[in-house]
Amino acid sequence: MAFNKASNGSAAPAHNGTAYPITDHSFDVIVVGAGGAGLRATVGCAKAGLRTACISKVFPTRSHTVAAQGGVAAALANMGPDKWQWHMYDTVKGSDWLGDQDSIEYLCRNAPAAVFELEHWGVPFSRTEDGLIYQRPFGGMTTDFGHGPPALRTCAAADRTGHAMLHTLYGQALRHDTEFFIEYFAIDIIIEDGRCRGVVCLKLDDGTIHRFRSQLVILATGGYGRAYFSATSAHTCTGDGNAMVLRAGLPLQDMEFVQFHPTGIYGAGCLITEGSRGEGGYLTNSEGERFMERYAPSVKDLAPRDIVSRSMTLEIREGRGVGKAKDHIHLHLEHLDPKVLHERLPGISESARIFAGVDVTREPIPVLPTAHYNMGGIPTNFHGEVVIKKNGDPDRVVPGLMAIGEAACVSVHGANRLGSNSLIDLVVFGRAAGLRAAELVTPGAKQQDLSANSADFALSRLDHFRHAKGDIPTAELRLRMQKVMQNDCAVYRTGATLEEGKRLIGEVWEAKDHISVTDRSLIWNSDLIETLEFDNLIVQAVVTMVGAANRTESRGAHAREDYTERDDVNWMKHTLASIDADAHKVTIDYRPVHTQTMTNEMQSIEPKARVY
Ligand SMILES: Cc1cc2nc3c(=O)[nH]c(=O)nc-3n(C[C@H](O)[C@H](O)[C@H](O)COP(=O)(O)OP(=O)(O)OC[C@H]3O[C@@H](n4cnc5c(N)ncnc54)[C@H](O)[C@@H]3O)c2cc1C
Repeated sequence: MAFNKASNGSAAPAHNGTAYPITDHSFDVIVVGAGGAGLRATVGCAKAGLRTACISKVFPTRSHTVAAQGGVAAALANMGPDKWQWHMYDTVKGSDWLGDQDSIEYLCRNAPAAVFELEHWGVPFSRTEDGLIYQRPFGGMTTDFGHGPPALRTCAAADRTGHAMLHTLYGQALRHDTEFFIEYFAIDIIIEDGRCRGVVCLKLDDGTIHRFRSQLVILATGGYGRAYFSATSAHTCTGDGNAMVLRAGLPLQDMEFVQFHPTGIYGAGCLITEGSRGEGGYLTNSEGERFMERYAPSVKDLAPRDIVSRSMTLEIREGRGVGKAKDHIHLHLEHLDPKVLHERLPGISESARIFAGVDVTREPIPVLPTAHYNMGGIPTNFHGEVVIKKNGDPDRVVPGLMAIGEAACVSVHGANRLGSNSLIDLVVFGRAAGLRAAELVTPGAKQQDLSANSADFALSRLDHFRHAKGDIPTAELRLRMQKVMQNDCAVYRTGATLEEGKRLIGEVWEAKDHISVTDRSLIWNSDLIETLEFDNLIVQAVVTMVGAANRTESRGAHAREDYTERDDVNWMKHTLASIDADAHKVTIDYRPVHTQTMTNEMQSIEPKARVY
C-alpha cells in the first residue's frame, strides 16, 4: 500500500552482527488488539475518517472475547423495570467502592445505546416472546438501588454472546476502510519525548520486522489470566500491552485485584457461565446444602463473584467439599427444563459433557473458583486516554496513548467486576476511544519522522531472547510462575503467604536471565513468542503479588485473612505499580478514586457495608 515503505536501514544490530531490516508503515491510528474492545475502536476510528490499522497476534475472531458466554449488561428494561442509575449503583457497590464513579456513570448511561448498536449491526441476540432482546439475571445486579429483586439486565445470545459480538464487530470493521495486520506480534510501543508514536511488530509467518508510526496508539490487548495455573482465559491472554506499558516506565493500576470465577470446571478450568445460575442453577456442598443461602440471604447464588468464590473456598476448607478429596463444589442444573438448557445454555452443556463427562440434565457439574478476569490494568480516564500522576496531577494524560478493554483500568470494575460488565465495557469504551480519537487526531496529518533508533529497544529485547542460551526452558519458568500465583495470590491471601509469594515470584523474575530458547529462527518460532509472552507475564505477576502484599485491607476480590475489613480511611485509593526491570524492583504509588460522578443527575454513592 502507498504509505508503506521498506527501509532497509535498521536499528539494533542483531546478535549475529547483521541488522534486522525494518518495514515502515504510517497511519493516523494504530489499534493493537482485535477483541471486542479493539474492533469497536477500529470501527469508530475508521468511521471518523482516520486511516486506521488494527494489529492482532491471532486472527481477530480467535481473540478471547469469542469465549465470552453469559452476556452483556445494559438497563434496557425489556423484561422488568430497570434504569441505568440502578445499574450504576450495583456497579459501584460491586466494585467495593474502588471504581471511579464518573467512569461508571459513563458506562451505565451509554450501555443501552451500545447494545442497540450491536443489535442493529447484526448480533443475533436471544429474544423474548415479544421479539425484544432477552435478558437474564446475573450476580450483583439488582433493582431499586439494591432494595428490589434481581434485575433482568444481562442481554444474551444463548451462552455464546461473545462469539456473536466478536463476529459481528469483525464484519463491521471489514465494512469500513481499515487495514488489518493479522498474526503480527507487537513487541513494544515507541515513546519519544513523552508521547507514544507507534509500535514495533514481528510478523509471525515470515519473521519480518514492522515499525508502525501513528498519531495515536490504542492498546486493546486483553488480560493476563495466564499468569495463573488454572485460568478460564485463552493461552493468548498474556497481557502484552500491560507489559509494554510497564517497560515504558509507566505504572499499572490496581493489579492486586484478580477475579476468581466461582464455576470453572474442576480440573479443566474451562468456564461454566454465571448465566447458568441466572437461569436457576445453584451450588451445593457435600451435605447437599444450598450454602449460598447462609452467606448471601437475599440474592443467594446470585451474589457477586468474589463473595461466591470465598463462600465456596470456606465450605471446602471446613470439610464440606464434594468428591473423594472433598476439594470442589457441585453446580446443579439438572432441575431446569431441558428446553431452557437447550435454548439458553447449549454451549456449557457441551463443555460439561466434554470436560467433566457430565450430562447436565442428570447430574451436577464439579466446579471450583478459577482465575478469570483482571480488574487492574493501564490507568485511563473515561475517554480511554492513558493517565499518569505527574507534578501533583493524578490525571495527567499521556499524549498519543489510549487503552481499552480488559487491558485498561478505567476503572469501572474497581475491586470486583460484576458478571456481564466486561462485554459492555468493551463496546462502550471502544466507542468512547473512537470518539476521542476523532477529536484529537487530524486525518492524514503529516507526522514527524521517528528517530533512527526508535526500534532499538524492541529489537534488542527480541534479539536477546532469540539467542538466549541459559539452562531453564521457558515452559519450566512459566509453570513455576503460575504455581506461585495460584498458591500464594489466590481467593484468600495472608501476609505470610504474600511475603513468601513475593520471594518466590522474585526468584522466577531473576531466573529469567537464565532462560533458554532453542529455536533461533524467526518464522513461526513459537518458542520465541512464548518466551516474549512469558517475559510479559512475569512482570505483571510480580506487580500483582507486590500490590497484594502492600494492600493491608480486604476489598472486593482482594481478601486478606490478616486484614479482614475494608479500610476506607487508608485504602480507598488506586494502587499504581511500576517496575525497574534491571534492578528487579517494584515501586508503589497511589491515585485517588474518583468519587465524583460525571453529571449531577446521579449523586456520589457513599461507601457502606456490602451486604447482599
Ligand atoms: C471464558 C470467558 C467467558 C467470559 N464471559 C463473559 C461474559 O459473558 N460477559 C462479560 O461481560 N465478560 C465475559 N468475560 C470477560 C470478557 O470476555 C473479557 O474481559 C473481554 O472479552 C476482553 O476483551 P478485550 O477486547 O479486552 O481483549 P481480548 O478479547 O482478549 O483480545 C485481545 C486482543 O489483543 C491481541 N493481542 C494481544 N497481545 C498482542 C500482541 N502482543 N500483539 C498483537 N496483538 C495482540 C489479541 O490478538 C486479541 O486480538 C469472559 C471471559 C472469559 C475468559
